[in-house]
Amino acid sequence: MSGSYDLLSQVYEPARHAGAAPVKMWTRGVPVAELPMQQLLNTASLPFIYKWLAVMPDVHFGKGSTIGSVIPTRGAIIPAAVGVDIGCGMMAVRSSLTAADLPDTLAPLRTALEQAVPHGRRVGRGKRDTGSWAVPPEAATRAWADLAPDFDRITDRHPALAKANALVHLGTLGTGNHFLEMCLDEADRVWFMLHSGSRGVGNMIGTHFIALARREMERFFINLPDADLAYLAEGTEHFDDYVQAVDWAQRFAMANRAVMMTHAIAAARQVFDRPFTAHLEAVNCHHNYVARERHFGQEVLVTRKGAVRAAEGVMGIIPGSMGAKSFIVRGRGNADSFCSCAHGAGRVMSRTEAHRRFTLDDHLRDTAGVECRKDAGVLDETPRAYKDIDAVMAAQADLVEIVHTLKQVVCVKG
Ligand code: 5GP
Ligand code: MN
Ligand code: MN
Repeated sequence: MSGSYDLLSQVYEPARHAGAAPVKMWTRGVPVAELPMQQLLNTASLPFIYKWLAVMPDVHFGKGSTIGSVIPTRGAIIPAAVGVDIGCGMMAVRSSLTAADLPDTLAPLRTALEQAVPHGRRVGRGKRDTGSWAVPPEAATRAWADLAPDFDRITDRHPALAKANALVHLGTLGTGNHFLEMCLDEADRVWFMLHSGSRGVGNMIGTHFIALARREMERFFINLPDADLAYLAEGTEHFDDYVQAVDWAQRFAMANRAVMMTHAIAAARQVFDRPFTAHLEAVNCHHNYVARERHFGQEVLVTRKGAVRAAEGVMGIIPGSMGAKSFIVRGRGNADSFCSCAHGAGRVMSRTEAHRRFTLDDHLRDTAGVECRKDAGVLDETPRAYKDIDAVMAAQADLVEIVHTLKQVVCVKG
C-alpha cells in the first residue's frame, strides 16, 4: 500500500491480477459492497491502458466498464466506456439570493422550475417522449447555431445520425437520475444546480460508434473478455470520426446545461419578489466523457466514466443524493488519479433492490425539508440507495478540496 490509495491486487485475490495493469483505488472507509472486481480486471487487461486504472470512491458496476473509474489509454478509445450519455455532468451557479429571500412555501418555486425545463418521460398517443420542446426557445436556437455546422459535418459521414432531432432536446433535463435543484450553501446563499447530458443525440452517437467498434473487433478476430470493451484504434477512420462526434456531443451537453440554467433562473425570477444576480460563481463539468490530456509528460486519452477532472485549481461538482449534501470542489491535481475525483456518492444497490428495500416512510424521513417528489415511484432514487457522501469525500481528501457545501431545498427529478 502506498499513498492514499490501495492496490486492487493487494486487497483482493492477487493471483487473478496477473498480466493486467495496476488498479489504484481511492475507496478507504467507503462501503464497497460488491466491488466489480472482474470488470475492473477486464478493463485493466487491455494492452492500451496507460500506466493504471484509477478507481474513485463512488465506484459501482457499470455496462462494460466500472462507473467511478478513470481509464487512461494510448492509441485506442472504448466507446462503451464513455457510454451513451456522452458529456453527462453537472452545472451549478451561485446567486445573490439568501435563505432569508425564500418564500414561505417552496411548492410554487418547484412548479415554476418544473415548467421551465422539459423533463421526465411522457407517454401519449403511442409516442414515448423524454421531454422535448414543442417550439425551441430562443436560448436553444442560439446555442444550436453554434453546434449545427459541426453536426452537419458528422452526419455527412454518418447519415444514420441525421435522424436525431437534437434541437428539440437542447435545454431539457431527461429522465430518472437527472435533476434540477435549488440549494443553500454553508453561508445560506442560494445556488441553482442541475444534472444532465447530451440527451437523444448523444445517445444516438454513442450507440452508433459502440456498434462500429464491435464490428471492428469481429473484422479483426479480436476476442475480448466483455463485448462492451470493444475499441477503436487510433489511425483508423472510425477513430477519427468518433473523436470528432464525441467531442461534439460533449459540447452539446455543456450547452444543454447552460440553456437549462438560463431558463431555471428566469423561472425563479418570476417567483422571487426581488431582483437578484445569478452566476456569481459558475461551474459546468462533465462526468462521463473522454478528453486528450497530458499526464506524466505524455499525451493520453482519459476516459472518465463517472469521474470529474480535478486538475490543480479546477472546479468541480460532487452531488450527494436527493436528501444529502453536495459539494463544490477544487482539484488538487493528484497525478496518481490522473487529476480526477468522484462524480457523486454512487449507488449502493440496484433500482429494483431499492424499491424492494425502502418504504415511502423511509423516503419521507430522508427527504424531510426538501420540496421534492414523495411518491413510491421515486424510491429507486431515495437517498439511502446511495453511499454516504461524507465517507466518499473523506476517501478522496487528497484529490479535491471542498469549497462549498450545498444542501437542496427544492429538487426536481427527471
Ligand atoms: P449519475 O450520473 O451516476 O446518474 O449520478 C451522479 C450522482 O448524483 C449519484 O452518484 C448521486 O450521488 C447523485 N444524485 C443522484 N440523485 C441526486 C439528486 O436528486 N440530488 C443530488 N444533489 N444528487 C443526486
Ligand atoms: Mn446522464
Ligand atoms: Mn450523470
